[in-house]
Order: sequence, then C-alpha cells, then structure tokens
Amino acid sequence: CVMNFDGAQGWLVGEANQGLACMFTMMNDARFQVGLQGLGIAEAAFQGGLAYARERLQSRSLAGPVAAQKPADPIIVHPDVRRMLLTQKTLTEGCRMLGIYTARQLDLEHGAISAPARQAAARRAALLIPIVKAFFTDVGQEVASLGVQVYGGHGYIREWGMEQLVRDSRITQLYEGTNGIQALDLIRRKVLGDGGAELNLLIDEMALHVRAANALGGLQAMATAVGQRLEEWRALSAHVVEACERDPQESGAVSVDFLAYSAYVLLAAMWLQAAVRAQATLAAGSAETAFYRAKLDAATFYWRRILPRATAHREALLGGADCLMALPASDFAF
Ligand SMILES: Cc1cc2nc3c(=O)[nH]c(=O)nc-3n(C[C@H](O)[C@H](O)[C@H](O)COP(=O)(O)OP(=O)(O)OC[C@H]3O[C@@H](n4cnc5c(N)ncnc54)[C@H](O)[C@@H]3O)c2cc1C
Repeated sequence: CVMNFDGAQGWLVGEANQGLACMFTMMNDARFQVGLQGLGIAEAAFQGGLAYARERLQSRSLAGPVAAQKPADPIIVHPDVRRMLLTQKTLTEGCRMLGIYTARQLDLEHGAISAPARQAAARRAALLIPIVKAFFTDVGQEVASLGVQVYGGHGYIREWGMEQLVRDSRITQLYEGTNGIQALDLIRRKVLGDGGAELNLLIDEMALHVRAANALGGLQAMATAVGQRLEEWRALSAHVVEACERDPQESGAVSVDFLAYSAYVLLAAMWLQAAVRAQATLAAGSAETAFYRAKLDAATFYWRRILPRATAHREALLGGADCLMALPASDFAF
C-alpha cells in the first residue's frame, strides 16, 4: 500500500541535528533483523527442497537404480540436485553460525562486564552488520531460487510455496538500505574508517580456528585452504584501503565484491569451526555419529564447491574503477 501525508504537520523529536545518530542505533538493529529475515527464508526454502527431493521420483541414478522397486529413483540421488541442496544447506547453516556470532557481539555490547569489552563488541558488531544484512539477504534470494529449481515446474506455481519465498526475499535486498548501500557502509565507514584495524582483529580471531584444526589433526587440507584465504583477505583489504585513498571512485567500485568476498571467507571460517567441533566430538566417542559426520561432509562441500566463489569476487574487484567509469552515461545504449 502507499500512504500520502499531504498537508500533514511534522514535529521535531529530540534535539535538532541529532537524528542521524539516533537513526543509526535503530538501523543497526533493523539491519540485523532484515538479515535474519533473509536467513529464515533460506531455511524454509531448504526444508521445502529437501522434503521434495526425497519424494519426487524422476530418472535413475547414474550409478544404477537405487529404488529398484519403484518406477524411478528419488531426485536426491542425482549429483546436480545434491549440488543445489548442499548449496542451500551450507549457505544457510553458514549464515546461521555467523548470525549467532554477530548476535553474541550485540549481547556483549550491552552486557559485557568491562567498558573496553563492551566497546570491542560494539566495534565488531558494527563491522559485521552490513555483511549480515547484505549477504544473508542475497543468500535468501539465491537459496529461495534454488528451492524453485529443485521443485522444477512445481516450484514455479503457487501451490508449493517456493515462488512466494522468491518474491518475499526480494524486498529484503532493498529495504533498511539497499545491499549496495550496505557494501558502501562496510568499505567506507567500517574498513576505511579505521584503516582496516577492526577487520584485522576479526581475521586474527578467525585464524584461531585454523590453529585448532591443525592441533586436532584430520582437517589439515581444509585448515590450510581457510588459513590461506584469511591471509589473502588481510592483503586484499590493505590493497583496497590503499587504492581507495588514491582514487575516490575505488570505494564505490570495489564495495559489493569486497563484501561478498569477505562473507564467503567468513563463512569458511565458521564451517572450519564446525568441522573442528564435529571432529573432536566424534574422536571423544559421541554416539551421534550421523549428525557430526554430516557436519564434516557439509564443511567439505563448502570448502571445495562454494569457497572458490571468493576468487571471482577478488578478481572482479581488482579489475578497478576505470572500466566502470570509462563509458559515458550518454553511450550506455550503444
Ligand atoms: C515494501 C517496502 C517497505 C519499506 N518500508 C520502509 C519503512 O518502514 N521505513 C522506511 O523508512 N523506509 C521503508 N522503505 C524504503 C526503503 O528503505 C528504500 O526503498 C530503500 O532504502 C532504497 O531507497 P530508494 O528506494 O530511495 O532507492 P534509491 O536510493 O533511489 O536507490 C536506487 C538504486 O541506486 C543505488 N544507489 C543509491 N545511492 C547510491 C550511492 N550513493 N552509491 C551507489 N549506489 C547507490 C541503490 O543501491 C539502488 O540500487 C520501504 C520500501 C519498500 C519497497
């Protein structure tokens, strides 16, 4: 609906020129919650896709019939359907882990005992909020679209609910500041704002998961890959800070790719943390082997099949501002 307030009177609430500061207190909270809205939509799309893929019969497994007594195998046997489901699962669970980590910072910002700890949590939350808002809602849209794809033609029609998730997730990329604006917030206010200092502290903390994985054993290849990405992220942010100081167009040119790159590497650290916990719990003799083995398999899928997306974002942002700004506005249609 649209409401017009023609001829309406407005009143100033609070002090003049203090509104923006008040608004940012509200916006941090609202942006976090919109991120969680994207995550909730992703979860619903994954649950729908998983249930359908276990039931829908179509074709036979490439390795030979799995449900020989039935006219066809359930589509969950097909590698491409598994690619879609695992993409849904690992993006959704990865965002859930990052969401819980961010929520903890918001709690500590208000509840930590010492003032320095409260301030440190506030800085960490401020850095993460634009990533949570933009990346989780982009994930919501991608995972909802994959939900439609898993259902095939049934995904497109209204009856099964998947198409509604695509429509509902689309607004989350726009309101509370478009995702493009979130990316500018990350690069300009949160990274350039302190020369990358808080980002480096976050990278240091994420590197602790690499150390834990190496100490545990059995996860060396994944730990090495995540450790290399974390150092690549540190070097990339130093490059971006330097490039943005040289050319004011750069911050707007790198912003969206830098946010996506950061999110994919952060989720890799989250999945490594989950793998460490799963490996340690299995080694301690847990009876819940299927649950923890599933976490290890999912972490491996994320590392091998999703994390490579970070390379594309890195290469794109290193392409610089020139190729974006060269074409005159009048010549775009040529
Ligand atoms: C259903 C719905 C509900 C809403 N609810 C509320 C509400 O409750 N309260 C409220 O206050 N608002 C609400 N909004 C408004 C919403 O927050 C804005 O629509 C949103 O922030 C985008 O602003 P805009 O529409 O003016 O887009 P614009 O600012 O015109 O942006 C258009 C495009 O240009 C890009 N862009 C703009 N400026 C820059 C820049 N400097 N650099 C790079 N790119 C840029 C944007 O990223 C976007 O892609 C709602 C909107 C909708 C659709």
